[in-house]
Amino acid sequence: MNTIHLLPDIVANQIAAGEVIQRPASAVKELLENTIDAGATKVQLIIKDAGRTLIQVVDNGKGMAFTDARMCFERHATSKIATADDLFHLTTKGFRGEALASIAAIAQIELNTKRAEEETGTRILVEGSQIKEHAPTATQDGTSIAVKNLFFNVPARRNFLKSDAVELGHIEEELNRLSLIHYDIEFSFYHNGKLMQQLQPSNQKQRIINVFGTHFKDKLFPVELNTEAVKITGFIAKPENAKKKKNEQYLFVNNRFVKHYLLTHAIETAYKELIPEGHKPAFFIEITVPPATIDVNISPTKIDVKFQDDRMIYAFLNAAVKKTLGALSLVPQIDFNYNPDYDFSAIKSREHIKPPTLTLNPNYTPYTSKPEKKNTVSDSWQQFLSGLKNETVKSHCEEPEKLAFTDEPKEKEEIIDETQLKCLLFSDAYLVFLWNDALHVIDVKAARERILFEHFLHALENAPIVIQQSMFPETITLSASATEIVNDLLSELRALGYDLEQMDRTSFAVNGTPGEDESCNVQQIIEQFVEMYKTHQFLHKTDKNCAIAKSLARQKCGSKLQIASELEQQAFVKQWLQCQVPHISPSGKKVVKSFMSMEIQKLFE
Ligand code: ADP
Ligand code: MG
Repeated sequence: MNTIHLLPDIVANQIAAGEVIQRPASAVKELLENTIDAGATKVQLIIKDAGRTLIQVVDNGKGMAFTDARMCFERHATSKIATADDLFHLTTKGFRGEALASIAAIAQIELNTKRAEEETGTRILVEGSQIKEHAPTATQDGTSIAVKNLFFNVPARRNFLKSDAVELGHIEEELNRLSLIHYDIEFSFYHNGKLMQQLQPSNQKQRIINVFGTHFKDKLFPVELNTEAVKITGFIAKPENAKKKKNEQYLFVNNRFVKHYLLTHAIETAYKELIPEGHKPAFFIEITVPPATIDVNISPTKIDVKFQDDRMIYAFLNAAVKKTLGALSLVPQIDFNYNPDYDFSAIKSREHIKPPTLTLNPNYTPYTSKPEKKNTVSDSWQQFLSGLKNETVKSHCEEPEKLAFTDEPKEKEEIIDETQLKCLLFSDAYLVFLWNDALHVIDVKAARERILFEHFLHALENAPIVIQQSMFPETITLSASATEIVNDLLSELRALGYDLEQMDRTSFAVNGTPGEDESCNVQQIIEQFVEMYKTHQFLHKTDKNCAIAKSLARQKCGSKLQIASELEQQAFVKQWLQCQVPHISPSGKKVVKSFMSMEIQKLFE
């Protein structure tokens, strides 16, 4: 007896719905995407009870004709592609033709739609895939779809829903993912009759600020790269704004929000060294590639994307972010295209609006390999200073000025004569000094961590630290796991001046220590170093030296520093001025605050 039979449409649609519509937010995503594909410029999202009882989306897009309005609920019914080949020329969000069929299988839907060029519109009622009504109606141009009682016939799904707060959070997130890339579209969002968000068309930066709040105003910096194969635009946040949570990371490929582990990694590694471990930088990055070089049809929710050449995109993206970060670490304050006109709350009517300024060297990167140290100030410090100066010059201008990129030729090398530095140690923690017409305050501990880190990295990569051999080697004893790590790092430790030799299972003879270190408690240093190294996430080969230098710098910057005398303070400042990335400690702390006389003058106004 034959036992195989075709599933009825309703069952097939319910199965498809299981993949596409997991929660109210999934339906929101699909309905919002359809409005964009329909060319809408104004979209309303109306939600009741976190989407359990009502999800309504109203748009002013092109609408549907009488028969299309009925067809759109069929499975595999789409106006967006016709052949499989079209999958590789996609310019629309939708293409699978299954969203409305899926939603219709598990909810009650009321659709009102009208094309501008037609006299009357169409009204349709559907419930569990059954068309209950299909009639002409008077309605406005565009489409309104109301999805009521989602999962009414799939109680298991309904029971899996989380609290209203959680479900609403997912809905908001879907709206963000769309509104952050379609910033030229007006969105409004209501929940239980209350207006939750109203987004006017704007530029992308303004949209980010409108979505996440004005605290983002001074924190966003443009990323731009344009090649034939890929175009990258968008914004990244300053390293110091990195958070423990990942929730401000937005990556778009050809206008579509996607999750892509590798590309996220490309961005995050560019921040390496600049932010504390475990912190996540915020970014809003748009990648545009020829549609034929990607495949978005790899998951039903279309949130994943496969690139033909993801290594190339990785390299470009990583370089683009590094370039912005490199320039950024030199500039005290940049404002790009933030349009103060949009931000009514922030401006008092008679307040003078500071003209936006941008001073950066687009080619600078703090990641170039280290040149031999001369008696000169590091390049990045010089550029930081010239940035400060340009900034001050601009603030004299009365007329608001257009955004200015300055890529000035590098100032001539500046020889440090530390005896000319006037230093003052304040509160045992801050060094204040005058240099190049500005007053600088550095956080001694953070500066020291930076100096030590660069020193150790240099020792590991170029010039090992001189070892002072011990006449009577002391013995240290470590835990089993520490022993394993130390054994693995013996040659690196030797480059850093620690000559260790394993004696038995967990003890080492200390045959030599770094000559520069007098009060050297090797047992403690190695123990703490290993602890820090262990918790360090950069354990893989390429980052080994960086992880080692970082861990040892952090261990050492905790010990007491002798800088009571002016001579010691001058020497310390000089060392710091020579660092490659002086302004940020390896764990991401701000090291210096600088004030030009103009800024001090302002304090007295
Ligand atoms: P897809 O978006 O993959 O084509 P959907 O099930 O989401 O599949 O939608 C089916 C079809 O219904 C779309 O191809 C489109 O022609 C039409 N449609 C859906 N929503 C709208 C809308 N808001 N405005 C105009 N047409 C729409
Ligand atoms: Mg769709």
